[in-house]
Amino acid sequence: MSQAESSIAQAPQHRGVINRYRGWLPGIPDHAVATLGEGGTPLIEAPCVSEKVGASVHLKFEGLNPTASFKDRGMTVALSRAAARGERLSICASTGNTAASAAAYSARAGMTCFVVVPVGKIAMGKAVQILAHGARVVQIEGNFDDALRISQRAAAEMDDVALVNSVNPDRIEGQKTSAFEISESLGAPPEALALPVGNAGNITAYWRGFSEWRDAGYSEHAPRMLGFQAAGSAPLVEGHDVQNPETVASAIRIGAPASKEGALAAMRESGGLIESVTDEEILDAQLLLAREEGVFCEPASAAGVAGLLKLAGEGRAPTGTVVSVLTGHGLKDPDVILARNRLPDPLPADFDTVADYMRREGG
Ligand SMILES: *Cc1c(COP(=O)(O)O)cnc(C)c1O
Repeated sequence: MSQAESSIAQAPQHRGVINRYRGWLPGIPDHAVATLGEGGTPLIEAPCVSEKVGASVHLKFEGLNPTASFKDRGMTVALSRAAARGERLSICASTGNTAASAAAYSARAGMTCFVVVPVGKIAMGKAVQILAHGARVVQIEGNFDDALRISQRAAAEMDDVALVNSVNPDRIEGQKTSAFEISESLGAPPEALALPVGNAGNITAYWRGFSEWRDAGYSEHAPRMLGFQAAGSAPLVEGHDVQNPETVASAIRIGAPASKEGALAAMRESGGLIESVTDEEILDAQLLLAREEGVFCEPASAAGVAGLLKLAGEGRAPTGTVVSVLTGHGLKDPDVILARNRLPDPLPADFDTVADYMRREGG
């Protein structure tokens, strides 16, 4: 074998979070592992955001998971364990990404997936994924919180049904692996972690991951957890559930977070905070990330960066190394971009016209 061939053969392959972090996760028999190679997402330096915030900001781009959101980390564990128990059906309530991920991993695990979603509220890219993977869609005339109540009852009262929302502890276990990856990439955990908060499973999972990493002796400290909700959907900031949550960031449009206690503990124990950002701040941060850093995330995913910019404006930004989690890919929600931008009218197929246009727009 030539040297080039042998180095290709030996290149380490990322084979999913169960294979990589098995000792940190609940037991899963080999034959039941349902993986699509999730995790191993890039940690990208963000010079523009760093300059504005006054810290060394990195982006953990979870939009590069197999179904384009971080939900895959938890779903591989939840569906593998459900398959190992012999369950045949999965069910979840969803604002879109949980359903897209559950649909894909259920297909992989050979299970039939039911998704309960608020009618007309699912972003286009997510709806397309759910249909492509063949999940059975139940559209209800209600919001996410209604959908979760119905799904929980179905799993409790019917046979062979696995609930794969983040109230399923396997989801949190899988999602905590991102904290390990970040600590390994940087050589140590960051000083702070900024992320969007909806149902609050992810902030709970990150705090567990960083805490376990520290308690195992791999680091001296754990980061401050900086969680950001959308202003129209901020029950943890207001201190009570919100009846009709509203925000452009559909992935965090949740009025009664299931993992509320976990989120508040993460904030308290890490010396962090949970605050809100407006839709305008979210959309501005999404645009900044896309146009200045070259990273396209969905609106909800930009809430962490929006929050860092807001803190910086008030002289309260964290310093040192900061990671912002970009939870999902921008292609999930094309309508948000198309509402603010459109393709221009066509030009004649003529060099001079195109050259004129380039001189005008080239800056
Ligand atoms: C699910 C989701 C969130 C919110 O995560 P929680 O665990 O519900 O707090 C944020 N962004 C995206 C893109 C999501 O899919």
